[in-house]
Amino acid sequence: MPAPPPASTYEADIVVVGAGAAGLYASLCAARERATVVLVSATPLAQTASYWAQGGLAATLAADDSFDLHLRDTELAGRQLVRRSAAEILVREAPDCVRDLQALGVRFDADRFGHLALGLEGGHSVRRIVHAGGSATGRRVVRQLSALAAAEPQITVLENTRAQALWTDADPTQPRCRGLVCDDGRVIAAARATVLASGGAAALWARTTNPPGSQGVGLQLAHAAGAALADLEMLQFHPTAVIGVRGREGFLVTEAIRGEGATLLDASGERFVDELAPRDEVSRAIHQRLAQSGQPSVGPDMRAIDPAHFPNVVAALREAGLDPTRELIPVAPAAHYMMGGIVTDLDAHSTVPGLYAVGECSCTGLHGANRLASNSLSECFVFARRAVAHALGGDGDTAASKPRPPDARELNALRALPAPPIAGRDTRAALWRDAGVVRSEAGLHSLLDNPHPLARLIARCALARAESRGAHLRQDHPERDPALDHRHAVIAADGTLDWQTWE
Ligand SMILES: Cc1cc2nc3c(=O)[nH]c(=O)nc-3n(C[C@H](O)[C@H](O)[C@H](O)COP(=O)(O)OP(=O)(O)OC[C@H]3O[C@@H](n4cnc5c(N)ncnc54)[C@H](O)[C@@H]3O)c2cc1C
Repeated sequence: MPAPPPASTYEADIVVVGAGAAGLYASLCAARERATVVLVSATPLAQTASYWAQGGLAATLAADDSFDLHLRDTELAGRQLVRRSAAEILVREAPDCVRDLQALGVRFDADRFGHLALGLEGGHSVRRIVHAGGSATGRRVVRQLSALAAAEPQITVLENTRAQALWTDADPTQPRCRGLVCDDGRVIAAARATVLASGGAAALWARTTNPPGSQGVGLQLAHAAGAALADLEMLQFHPTAVIGVRGREGFLVTEAIRGEGATLLDASGERFVDELAPRDEVSRAIHQRLAQSGQPSVGPDMRAIDPAHFPNVVAALREAGLDPTRELIPVAPAAHYMMGGIVTDLDAHSTVPGLYAVGECSCTGLHGANRLASNSLSECFVFARRAVAHALGGDGDTAASKPRPPDARELNALRALPAPPIAGRDTRAALWRDAGVVRSEAGLHSLLDNPHPLARLIARCALARAESRGAHLRQDHPERDPALDHRHAVIAADGTLDWQTWE
């Protein structure tokens, strides 16, 4: 007999799901405004995508950079699908978030004069990537923020606890998210906001750079609670993830290394692509080269790169028996970043009142069809801060509204709600095969029968988008269809798919 669930309920101004960059920062921003926070995290710190982030945060900080340049690079990479208003917010607010992180004690790499050392990545026209510990940015940022969250009396952290379902008012005329129920039966009632910061969905694909927990659970929780999802066909493939090396399958070789001069060579030792083009272009070029050659991998040539600049990448490769100072590293594309997600407005508010989504689980439209490298960590901070400011009404007065604890009938109904399913090996293999770098109508059709609900929704969006754009490459529709410029595939709670243009 399983142990009966604990009877306890928690009350807070804000409940946050996820302890990656977005969830930790949202919690700290809320605590700073004297709000009470319950932070629920399913996995240990080292299993968040944020912890694994290598490159850094994109922010317009260099003398030769500007608002217009960063905006232009973001829009160019996003292939006529970027929501300009969201990109403008990111570009405008990212530098201040970097300064705030520094004030919170994050130590970014600096040059010998004490100025931030900025890196270069694909699709960026100038150096604008703020990093820490070379390529250990995520680890450094998450460690510092989680230490602060753990020490903050306003924040209650529930580790190794999973949000099982969101709690919405039963009255369909007045839907409002009121909190959530955890997998151990605990209920958290939120007065102001429930903030999903549950990460992406790239681990739904068999070959991935992501930790195993990145399976889009937050998207499923939100959709079940009535929230719209969008752009699910837009999954970015990272061009250079290790392949064929035991224990390091999918390990990312950051493109910051290409930014420092590493080249990409095919099996005959030839360069075949502009290494600093946006990711969709580089992934596609690698995919084509592998299909032509029959080889499993191409190789970044890092032999001229100083290993001291990327210590954690070099150490991880050496542990796996690869010496990047002497040999090429076998890499190929892998599922990396979900551009689609829970539809939000520019304050990270979802289509369900009281429910917010920040970080990779959200879809503001910022990334369009192809995320510009390192815009995602910046997005975590910029939109987490906006979500909290919106939820708290800007004045920090949290006494105005009280959480409503569930009554006994609601409690029973909540605890009976099923948890979102976890994708098994077959679903992950099917997504890699049928919704991978190159897609076809027949393959996508076969996914419509997949047992996993998110796999089916991904297939529906990918079938509806009968064109090729950014990360979404249809071999039966190889061209971009201008009629779909700035049109987002939105799936409402009732399952209808609608094309929307967002201001
Ligand atoms: C290898 C790698 C390198 C990357 N490098 C960069 C980079 O250099 N720059 C950049 O901008 N982006 C990078 N990215 C992308 C970026 O790291 C992510 O988009 C970003 O960190 C996502 O942060 P997040 O807070 O939204 O989610 P995550 O960091 O994934 O955190 C999700 C959290 O949600 C929790 N969670 C999930 N479901 C539940 C549930 N049901 N209940 C409770 N908790 C739950 C998880 O336990 C976890 O704590 C990289 C990604 C990877 C995988």
